[in-house]
Amino acid sequence: MSRVIVIAEQRDGRLKKTSFELLGLSSSAGHETHAVILGHGVENLATELAHYGADKVYVIDHETLNYYNAEAYTQALSGFLLSEKPDYILASHTPTGRDFMPHLAAKIDAGLASDCTKVEFDGNQVKAWRPVYSGKAVAEVEFLGDGVKMLTIRPNAIGAAQPDPSKTGSVEKIEVSLDGLKTKTTELMKGSAVRPDVTEATTVVSGGRSLKNADNFKYLEDLADQLNAAVGASRAAVDAGYRPHQDQVGQTGKVVSPQLYIACGISGAIQHLAGMRTSKTIVAVNSDPDAPIFQVADYSVTADLFEFIPVFTEEVKKLKESL
Ligand SMILES: Cc1cc2nc3c(=O)[nH]c(=O)nc-3n(C[C@H](O)[C@H](O)[C@H](O)COP(=O)(O)OP(=O)(O)OC[C@H]3O[C@@H](n4cnc5c(N)ncnc54)[C@H](O)[C@@H]3O)c2cc1C
Repeated sequence: MSRVIVIAEQRDGRLKKTSFELLGLSSSAGHETHAVILGHGVENLATELAHYGADKVYVIDHETLNYYNAEAYTQALSGFLLSEKPDYILASHTPTGRDFMPHLAAKIDAGLASDCTKVEFDGNQVKAWRPVYSGKAVAEVEFLGDGVKMLTIRPNAIGAAQPDPSKTGSVEKIEVSLDGLKTKTTELMKGSAVRPDVTEATTVVSGGRSLKNADNFKYLEDLADQLNAAVGASRAAVDAGYRPHQDQVGQTGKVVSPQLYIACGISGAIQHLAGMRTSKTIVAVNSDPDAPIFQVADYSVTADLFEFIPVFTEEVKKLKESL
């Protein structure tokens, strides 16, 4: 049995759903699954991590870790991980995970496979698959040697685990010294977004240049409200000022992998596909029957989005009310 340490992620004292996916991945593979949580005043999160499969939770609680900082995370985790020597270290490929994991891999001299969408464990070996060349190909990655193996997993790429409230785990506090850091994050200014982030939502409704202006995104917001979805955008829509850059999906935006991606009036340029082609189900609405987005869509709707989306939204609403 291998030993896995999942680096759990929290923001404002709430655990990220992606951390539960990692715990599920590890425990369903039969590994001894441990979690480590960093922050300030986060010990209470250990119980929830145990419910999702952590046999043991390490808590690194330090005032300096109140706000995320790559240098502080690397310093806090490296000594702990070097002494624990797990077989695998897992983190989510969120903006946080993709930031500190390469620092950490260098610091503890471990191999790192990043942005994996599929992982298969076989005893003490693991194979990981990660999209490359804007999602046009998939690379199969194996680790060499017996050292610690680190992986970041794309959010939503693997199934979410179900919590088991009867499960408990032991908790151990880890003392760390964060003296000598060169940087410290002192404040985090939140955006005004009221919706889930596109990288974390299970459904994303995205719009393109064809929306014509920022106000017309109301059509998509109404649908997103019904589906509890995030609203995304193509780069053309972002460049035109219809949406903020944080909503951009694609090669130079965010990579998303939701259960459902609804692309409205988006042509399907390769740079956009790079950010969403691993979505589980893709619905495309486009007035051009030859739009490239239809080549990756599971459901293709050839229609004017301004006619189709309000009708579709109304139908979703009726369906929800009838349930
Ligand atoms: C280096 C580089 C990086 C890039 N990074 C990104 C990225 O991260 N994300 C990204 O999205 N793009 C990116 N792009 C830009 C990309 O190449 C495309 O230009 C962009 O995705 C096009 O956006 P769009 O589909 O909204 O617009 P368009 O290509 O103009 O397509 C609009 C689509 O809407 C359809 N349409 C028009 N009116 C309606 C209507 N009423 N109802 C239904 N359909 C309608 C049209 O048929 C068309 O298919 C990048 C480009 C480069 C060079």
